[in-house]
Amino acid sequence: MRVARRGVGFLRQLLLGLAAGAATIAAPGTANAAPLAPPPFSIIHAGRLLAVPGKQPVEKATVVVQQGNIKEIRAGYADAAALGLPADTRVIDLTSRFVMPGFIDLHVHLSGGAERGRDLNLREPDNYFTIVAYRSALAALMGGFTTVRDLGSEGYTVLGLRDSIRDGIVQGPRILASGDPISPTNGHADNHNLREELLTGIIRRGVCNGADDCRRAVREAIRRGVDVIKVMASGGTLDEGDGGTGQQFTDEELQAIAGTAHAFGRRVTAHAHAKAAIDACIRANFDSIEHGMWADEETLKAMKAKGIWLIPTAATITYVGDTPEKVRNGPLKDLPAVSMEKVLKLGTQPRKLVTLAHKIGVGIALGTDAPLVPHGENGMEMVTYVVDSGLTPMEALMAGTVNAAQAGGIKDVGKLEPGMAADVIALAQDPLADIHAVMNVSFVMRGGIVAKTTGDTQ
Ligand SMILES: [Zn+2]
Repeated sequence: MRVARRGVGFLRQLLLGLAAGAATIAAPGTANAAPLAPPPFSIIHAGRLLAVPGKQPVEKATVVVQQGNIKEIRAGYADAAALGLPADTRVIDLTSRFVMPGFIDLHVHLSGGAERGRDLNLREPDNYFTIVAYRSALAALMGGFTTVRDLGSEGYTVLGLRDSIRDGIVQGPRILASGDPISPTNGHADNHNLREELLTGIIRRGVCNGADDCRRAVREAIRRGVDVIKVMASGGTLDEGDGGTGQQFTDEELQAIAGTAHAFGRRVTAHAHAKAAIDACIRANFDSIEHGMWADEETLKAMKAKGIWLIPTAATITYVGDTPEKVRNGPLKDLPAVSMEKVLKLGTQPRKLVTLAHKIGVGIALGTDAPLVPHGENGMEMVTYVVDSGLTPMEALMAGTVNAAQAGGIKDVGKLEPGMAADVIALAQDPLADIHAVMNVSFVMRGGIVAKTTGDTQ
């Protein structure tokens, strides 16, 4: 068994409670631990098929999967002989199910959500957090999320998990990852509340100040292998900073970051709460805004004009509480006072934001900020879009599939067409009739490999 380890001090584990471990997934040590691989062909009989969210579903269709991709979609139920496939090709019976492409969550923190307290990162090694991230990734997959984008895990942690899933060492969703977010000194990803001499012992990746230094930080992140650049453009709610949630990078810094990311073919997305911070990211040509909490009509119209996506993370307040009483008795009840004050200011604002963005016509793509929605319950985001903000069920499904694929620049997911990834899920009920159906995922195929079956699914 080969185990890669980094010799790291405990101090660098401190980032935000979102920190996670090094790439320590062990390679298979025995001959029978072969990489996971899809069968040559599978046939799915879909009772109702929504191949491309935004278009109408069809009744009774056959989806032909060749290894990891969709080969063909036919009307009616065709068998192996009719399709010219080997007689032993597996036929997956989803004739009583609603079948659609797997969901995509563009904003998760896979290594977040460990049960123990905030000082955990002072005590546990990196690989502890890699295993937490693996559990989170599996939970998301079982919830129908076949692609997730991790926007804040320290160093190489989730990059190692991403690569081990890609290589078929363990099962999981397709992962895109930002690694350490790009943050100014004392910004949202550099808020430690430690004495200066302790801080000097921490490798604070992603922290930069001034345009040139920020170009360096982005280039180094890309050298580490990140898929996307995540930028802390404003302060954050859950950090212990008392500087509010306003613009913290200058326009010059934001433009340097976005320009460098784009020069290397990476999307750049901003954590931004205050209007001033969002407006600055719009000026700097960011691809998307995470949270976007206090965007007003003028800001949202500017986003629409430039085709900048909103990733609202709206279901978090359902989980952490939308009233002071619920927050004080909820999962964040032990927050330090300075963070609690910022959470209490949110109230129902995320729902109002989505309502307004939808009315104006800003592109909305699904992101949850899990574990602020528990990993595996990412579908709650689509429920809140419909129940609290007036999107149609079809619009919510689009946010979680085709829109998210486009916003994230992920080419082969989000719809089921020949050549696309065989990321297929099935729901027991029709989500177009009741969006809550997205919470009851009975079948998951990722890259042609069946990851979950229940009930009458074979
Ligand atoms: Zn986040």
